[in-house]
Amino acid sequence: MLNLLYPPKCIFCGRRLEPGNKTGTCPECANTLPFCRKYIRCRRCGKPIADSADGLCEGCSVRRNYAKGITSAFVYIDNAKSAVIALKKEYNALYAKTLSLYVAEMIKYDFGGVEFDFVVSAPPRKKNHREEIFDHAACLAREVALRIGIPFKNNVLYQTEKLRKQSELHPDERLLNVKGKFAVRRPDTVRGKTILVIDDVYTTGATLEECAAELLKAGAYRVYAAAAATTVKQNR
Ligand SMILES: [Zn+2]
Ligand SMILES: [Zn+2]
Repeated sequence: MLNLLYPPKCIFCGRRLEPGNKTGTCPECANTLPFCRKYIRCRRCGKPIADSADGLCEGCSVRRNYAKGITSAFVYIDNAKSAVIALKKEYNALYAKTLSLYVAEMIKYDFGGVEFDFVVSAPPRKKNHREEIFDHAACLAREVALRIGIPFKNNVLYQTEKLRKQSELHPDERLLNVKGKFAVRRPDTVRGKTILVIDDVYTTGATLEECAAELLKAGAYRVYAAAAATTVKQNR
């Protein structure tokens, strides 16, 4: 039965997997994937950095930070990048299931002592009525929540108006693009809670920080965030 849900292919390279493989990852990829843990990382957001004196990345040293901590499983390059792109494009639970394994590991690694009340996802981008929204961040968040044993709450955050696509904007424009455009549906559900926000890619942090800002404004106690992958630079 499990084999029907898990076609025996590595989500990172497409190699056939040995029967019984439960990680969705071939041994080769398991050893060579660009895990964030292998790098010197920003002490606040986990983005890989050159060995700098204060231990902060470019973004964290200039931006106002709302999330108490941010972490990502992979650097957004090579096979990890293609798997995250596939997560966004394909309605295939295998990507979310496999990526969530590594996100959950990183959450335990970086936020081991934190007791989360629940997990939420960054809101999907509002689209035209005709376009169907595939909420890949929610898919990933649901799987991460299962793995760390914390409830997932859907639709906690929503987008109040249309945004321009973050990936098409200059880093400076991204903060403005999302500023004030998210909201919490029911503030009573977040009041006093410690919340973990999940998104697919962490780039400038504009989206995750705005999610954290809104949750805090609605009364959340603390907000942490995690992504499947992080870019090394602020803009790519
Ligand atoms: Zn592989
Ligand atoms: Zn940082």
